Amino acid sequence: METSRVGGEDDDGHRHVMRVTTGPGQVRHVVCDTCGHRRRVRAFAHDRAREHLAAEHGAGGFRREYNGLPWLLGLAAFVVFLVVLAGYRR
Ligand SMILES: [Zn+2]
Repeated sequence: METSRVGGEDDDGHRHVMRVTTGPGQVRHVVCDTCGHRRRVRAFAHDRAREHLAAEHGAGGFRREYNGLPWLLGLAAFVVFLVVLAGYRR
């Protein structure tokens, strides 16, 4: 089982987060931390989460947490690797 989060902020700066869990058979549960709204979806779980946050809580500025981080870390490591490699060549 895998959990990711979709978060956004409303006009007052309050943060709203929905958790998306993936269970067996690709059934996903979308759960709102703010109001407890819960929904079963088969596809586009993150889009459904964003829809709920926007419609019920007026939240925007979404970003998908966790999913982008490993990629960024990999990129950062690669840049460091290049810098070190360039240093050795002198
Ligand atoms: Zn909600």
